[in-house]
Amino acid sequence: MILIVDDTAENIFTLRTLLELHSFPVDTAASGEEALKKVLKKSYALIILDVQMPGMDGFEVAEILSGNNATKDIPVIFLSAINIDKRYITRGYLSGGIDYVTKPIDPDILLLRVKTFYRLHEQNRVLNEVQSNLRKEIEYRKLAQQEAQEASRRKDEFMSIASHELKTPLASMKAYMQLVDRSLSKADKIQIYIDRTLIQINTLNTLITDLLDMSRLENGKLKFNKTLFNFDELVRDATEMIRQTYPDYNISVNGQTGIMVKGDEPRLEQVLLNYLTNAVKYSPDAKEIQVHIRLEENMAIVSVRDFGIGIPKQSQPEVFRKFYRVEGSEHRFQGLGVGLYICSEIIQRHKGSCWLQSEYGKGSTFFFSIPAA
Ligand code: ATP
Ligand code: MG
Repeated sequence: MILIVDDTAENIFTLRTLLELHSFPVDTAASGEEALKKVLKKSYALIILDVQMPGMDGFEVAEILSGNNATKDIPVIFLSAINIDKRYITRGYLSGGIDYVTKPIDPDILLLRVKTFYRLHEQNRVLNEVQSNLRKEIEYRKLAQQEAQEASRRKDEFMSIASHELKTPLASMKAYMQLVDRSLSKADKIQIYIDRTLIQINTLNTLITDLLDMSRLENGKLKFNKTLFNFDELVRDATEMIRQTYPDYNISVNGQTGIMVKGDEPRLEQVLLNYLTNAVKYSPDAKEIQVHIRLEENMAIVSVRDFGIGIPKQSQPEVFRKFYRVEGSEHRFQGLGVGLYICSEIIQRHKGSCWLQSEYGKGSTFFFSIPAA
């Protein structure tokens, strides 16, 4: 809508007819004061403003419009009997389009300018619309992201509390079972069931510990308590532990590094135990497991080799990912798919790395390296 402001009814009539003939919607005001009132109520694409009016003149109206945020961008065409100085017009009216047409009005020139401003206005409107839609979209995405983050934080918190709460009763169960175990005579038939229960309790304990570790890793709450220790001894102790748990496996340790390592000893032992229990778990038919240690460029390198089911080539880069389990074997073997993820995080936090070599159907070798102290 275009607003024509002129104190002469005749001029208004001529301009209105001209513009309406070219399909422009038109509104009119007979004075500066009336124009200001209208501008505050309605939005206009353009104002055609007579300079010489009794009361408030065109320049004063423009000055007020330029000082108001809602109106400062409406373009103005001044109608003036005399040739006015452009610098004077633009004073105080820096933003928004501005132009002038001298009287007597040449209809072609006026139409040309009106069309230009109208087109600009239309382009601006479309741009503003696009911009506001984009802004809404950004806001919406931000909100969705915040909600997702909050949900994920709550889930992590729940996981952490749940696994912690589960550990307490489990620890008492284990203690009571051990008491029962001790009070039975070796010949008691029930002994075998107690042993099996204890094995299941240990498995459950490992699962819960893994869940707790994972949630601590996610929250950056897994703390490392680093001390200086003999690396070869750690490897031998961890292997011995697994040997006792799985007496039917033949587990050998070869090589040596002869170095001290500065790290969290129980956590590094956990990595090795994870590698070893995987080696046992995923080689149900081959009972041979070979652990090897060596020193290379001041890094201790450990490898755990089994002759079990192996891992297909395409799955090999994935196995250290959280929850990843190789397709096809996941129903045969129990697990959460978090063991290797935790291992790789622990090793990374010790400035080392994890990797593997494997041939499907023939077996796997899992490695990790860690710098000497
Ligand atoms: P858990 O969280 O209880 O350890 P998991 O053993 O399934 O469960 P990871 O130890 O992270 O999880 O291992 C991920 C996957 O990598 C396993 O599901 C298995 O498919 C594959 N994998 C790991 N070690 C071996 C191995 N020695 N031989 C063959 N496949 C293996
Ligand atoms: Mg595992």
